[in-house]
Amino acid sequence: MTQLKLAEYIWLDGAKPTRGLRSKAKVLNLPSSAPVTLDHFPEWSFDGSSTAQSDGANSDLFLKPVNFVKDPLRGEGNFLVMCEVLNEDGSPHFSNSRASLRKVLDNGGAEQEAWIGYEQEYTLFKGGRPLEWPTSGYPGPQGPYYCGVGPKAVAGRPMIEAHTKACIDAGIAIYGINAEVMPAQWEFQIGYRGIEGEDAGLLNMADHLWFARWLLYRIGEEFGYHPSFDVKPVAGDWNGAGCHTNFSTKHTRAAGGIDAIQEAIELMSVKHAEHIAVYGEGLERRLTGLHETCSISEFKSGKSDRGASIRVPLQVASNGCGYFEDRRPGANCDPYLVAARILSTIIKYDDV
Ligand code: ADP
Ligand code: MN
Ligand code: MN
Ligand code: MN
Ligand code: MN
Repeated sequence: MTQLKLAEYIWLDGAKPTRGLRSKAKVLNLPSSAPVTLDHFPEWSFDGSSTAQSDGANSDLFLKPVNFVKDPLRGEGNFLVMCEVLNEDGSPHFSNSRASLRKVLDNGGAEQEAWIGYEQEYTLFKGGRPLEWPTSGYPGPQGPYYCGVGPKAVAGRPMIEAHTKACIDAGIAIYGINAEVMPAQWEFQIGYRGIEGEDAGLLNMADHLWFARWLLYRIGEEFGYHPSFDVKPVAGDWNGAGCHTNFSTKHTRAAGGIDAIQEAIELMSVKHAEHIAVYGEGLERRLTGLHETCSISEFKSGKSDRGASIRVPLQVASNGCGYFEDRRPGANCDPYLVAARILSTIIKYDDV
């Protein structure tokens, strides 16, 4: 038995400095009882001249499906399909950052069995201002908003709930959500959850973060709110928006793994500039040394220190193993590039 269903093909465009999400839907005759696999989604193409990915004369680029989840909005039997963009000859397009991560994994990275978790912060906007901010002036100073409850503390909760439910229904590895320090700012986490059999590897989790971002924009259409990933959406005494990246390898997770964590931190300390270069656009506006950040020109690590570049969570320090948190990536970072950079630094692979 088969049925006509929709597959939303999603890819990253060529926009600079921050890639945008693009998608279009294909009607497919999919099996209704047998399981759907990646092979059910054929390669497709699109007009790269309209996405900053090619010039008009030679504009066709390929979409190669590489991962998929359920489409929680169209419902049962429909899918969201992550695609890599390929050139005519099948090589990765310059915008294809997922291929960069694959390269590090293929050159010794995979042996680390790394797991990752991203804390995605973002800010809801409506009519050019953060949601429910007064039309002139500012809300009261930061303090009551982080993990707040009540109409004076948070804005946009119905959209956040809809997004969280959509992620769960899709099968995305969403870990949790919270209201953030600046009003109209929120966070969701994607990543390792300790659920048996779940793939917390770098490619899958970075794909899931892009799926979750796509759903946030898509659900934003329904509410009329724009989710901004700007790293400092409001200048002044307001927190910026980050994408803290939590990382572990089989060595950091094993008993006594704190030594492997220290070693990773030392390796990262001498590659600070290389990391900052791929951690998002506008980081100099966010990494000021204030608002729970470490200055962009400095590298610091510390146990449970929210003013550090790398934080070792208290629980990890006391267990003597686990993961570390890289607090530098900005909300608009490309999770493929962040994962590729951390892994290549740890395995001393320099051809990123
Ligand atoms: P914070 O205390 O910094 O706000 P959160 O609770 O928001 O932290 O997020 C914790 C993140 O750490 C999640 O994204 C989760 O997936 C990730 N994480 C937990 N354990 C591991 C691990 N062993 N390896 C990698 N990531 C992990
Ligand atoms: Mn968090
Ligand atoms: Mn946060
Ligand atoms: Mn924050
Ligand atoms: Mn954090």
